[in-house]
Formats: sequence, structure tokens, C-alpha cells
Amino acid sequence: MENKCKKCGSENIIMVEYDGMHPDHYDGVSEIECLKCKTRFGRWSGKELAEGEFEKVGGKEKKK
Ligand SMILES: [Zn+2]
Repeated sequence: MENKCKKCGSENIIMVEYDGMHPDHYDGVSEIECLKCKTRFGRWSGKELAEGEFEKVGGKEKKK
């Protein structure tokens, strides 16, 4: 996992876990949030998460 923000390069980041009630809950870190530029990145996908968007477990959409 990256230990700095991909966008601004800040090391002021936190690892975010979703709680057990969250539809995309994973028992561990799901996203990385930069406290400097407030950008959130998916743990697996590495992509920037928009507001209200969450990282799917494994970085993929669930099969239906
Ligand atoms: Zn940043």
C-alpha cells in the first residue's frame, strides 16, 4: 500500500476501515484518505473515490 498521497505527495494520510454495517465492509483497510487534500483512494483499485463512492472489497463490483 502507498504510504503517501498519490495526488499531493503528503504523508499525512489515514487508513480507513468501513464499519460492519457498511455494504462494502471489509475486515481491514478499504481506503486511504489524505488529510491534506482530502482525497480518498481505494485500497485495491488505487483510484480516486468521489464523495459517496466507496471501495468495493477486492476493488471490484460484486457479482449479482
Ligand atoms: Zn493529498
